Parts: sequence; structure tokens; C-alpha cells
Amino acid sequence: MRFLLRIACFALLGFLATTLRSLDSGLLERADRLPASPRSAQSKLIDSCHDIHKVVCQRKGRTRDPTGIVYTDLEGELMALRAYEEIIRAHPDWTVEQIDEELTRTIYTPVVRRRAQAAFRWVQRSLEQIIERQPLRVFPREEKRWLQKRLRETQLELPPPASLYADEPSLFTKNDVYYERLRDGRKRLRVGGAYLLAAKSWFNLIFTMAHELAHAIDPCEVRSELQERPLEFAAYGRLSACFLRNELIDAESARRECGPNDQLAETFADWLAARVSAQALANFATEFHGPALTQAITNSVRDLCEQDDPQDELDTRFHPAPEARIDRIFGRNPRIRALLGCGPPARLEEYCAFN
Ligand SMILES: [Zn+2]
Repeated sequence: MRFLLRIACFALLGFLATTLRSLDSGLLERADRLPASPRSAQSKLIDSCHDIHKVVCQRKGRTRDPTGIVYTDLEGELMALRAYEEIIRAHPDWTVEQIDEELTRTIYTPVVRRRAQAAFRWVQRSLEQIIERQPLRVFPREEKRWLQKRLRETQLELPPPASLYADEPSLFTKNDVYYERLRDGRKRLRVGGAYLLAAKSWFNLIFTMAHELAHAIDPCEVRSELQERPLEFAAYGRLSACFLRNELIDAESARRECGPNDQLAETFADWLAARVSAQALANFATEFHGPALTQAITNSVRDLCEQDDPQDELDTRFHPAPEARIDRIFGRNPRIRALLGCGPPARLEEYCAFN
């Protein structure tokens, strides 16, 4: 059944692919020919201070930063499904399990795995340091230890073997990356195969992993885990109040905190991921400047843009709209603004912080 579903899915995506002319000449060769124009990058740099969403999302074609490209979700899924189809064609007698095993070896290669693991470790350390650096009036020592322990306990799960995702094998051909806590308390991050094929840029990996790992300590996750513990996390209360003041989340009357349709957890994850990305980009800025830096900033959040895929309806029940995520969360981070050559946000109180 699963096998048939994937084939049907492949047929549908194959049809959509014909509309994507850019795929015709092979993704990598085409991407390698992308020109970098310092002049247009410069004028976009100036626009970016007012409308970062526009600069990130209205670019024609793909942006290559020195670490790689970010393909669209649809392109990632097509690449994964093509790999799947090739394996079936070459081994018509194989079982679904054998095909899945080969597919994970094709997508999650040692190089790809090492890169994803390195990004995950970097993000894990960076988040721990962000918590560590907060004054004790923000996070008393016990709260710091509790948050850092959760970050350290979260494992990155990457196949092969394919059996690692046995409960969700469709993930091999999907763009999803997610954090989850299991009934037994284990916490893990899983990464879809299509995502790894699509996100070649180190900066996209960093933002994506940081967003997901931030869910291990987001206000809703903390609330559901605390139960009878004597920790208060007053800093989280102040932070949500700031999100509310800046209209990043709905007015209290219109939402039930951490309930259905509440965007608090997603806003928090984007906000924290922007801080982690700002650090990664600042490190990069010691070697790269100008267009290369703008391209790296763009690629950090390139996949948050509205996607061209007609199948991919925008889900804003939990996630804020792309414009809010890019302009008002990522684009208000003072460090990212400084890297773009922009001043701080128009009103400094528009930027929320733990303290
Ligand atoms: Zn999320």
C-alpha cells in the first residue's frame, strides 16, 4: 500500500515537474551557473532594511551562498522520489524494506550525515550557551540546568538503517524536520530525506535545526513538562508578554495559550533560531562580506517563503505567516540587522529578549 502511494505521489509530482523548467537541465549544473551580481545585491541590501521578507522571498531563482543552495520543498521531494524510482527500476524484485534501505543509503550518505550532525551539535552548543549567558535574574541556576539538560538530552536521529524511521517511512521523501518527545521521555529530532536534498546551505541547516531544537525548551513544552516542579520560568512570561505587545502572537482574548491555533511555541522557536543563526552568520562574516553575506542571510530563511507548489497550502494555524516570520522575527534581530548593514529596529522595544 505504502509502495503504491509513493508511486502515485511520484506520478503527481512528475506532472508538476514538467512545469518547473529549471529542473530540466539537472539541478546542480543549473545551480552552478547562477551569477552573483554585486550591484543588484547592493541595492537589495538597502531594501532589506525595510522589507527583509521581500528581499528573501522575491528573488528570482535560487540563491547560492558560499556553502550551497536552498531548493524549494517541491524540488527536494522530486529529487527524493526520483532516487526512489531509480532504485525500483534497477531492482524490481526487491521488497519495500530493501528499497527503503537503499534509499536511505542514497540520501543520507556519510557526507550528508556528518554535515547534519555537525550542524546539530553546533546548534545544541549555541543554545546551551545562550541559556548560560543569561543573568541569574533571568534564569535562576536551577532553571538554566533544567533547560540545558533538555537540550543535551535531545538526540538527532538519522538513518540508515531505514528501520530507525520504521514508524514513519514516508519521511525519506519528505521535507519535514521535527522535534518530538516520546511517551517514555526520550526526545529526538528527525530529518526528512527531501529536506537534506533541498537544503545544501549550511545556514539553512543551522536555522532549521535551531528552530526544531528550540521546541525542546519552548514555553508550551516547558509548561507541559513542568507539572509539579517548583520552577517558575518567569522569563518566559515576560517574553510572551513582549510577543503579545509586538503583535507576534494574538491578543490573549483570542487565544488559549499553548492551545489549538496558538502560535506562541512557533514564534518562540523562530525567535531563538534567529539568535542562533545570527551567531553563525557573525562567525561567517569574519571571512565573507557583501553579497556572500547577504546570500547566506537569505538562505537561512529561504524555505520559510510562500512556496510555489500548488499542493503546499500555507498552514498558519501554528506558524506565523512567512512575512511575520521573516520580517518581524528574523529581521528584527539586531545582530542580523547589523550584518545586513541596517540599523537596529525602528523602536528597540520591537525586539523581544529574555530580560
Ligand atoms: Zn516549529
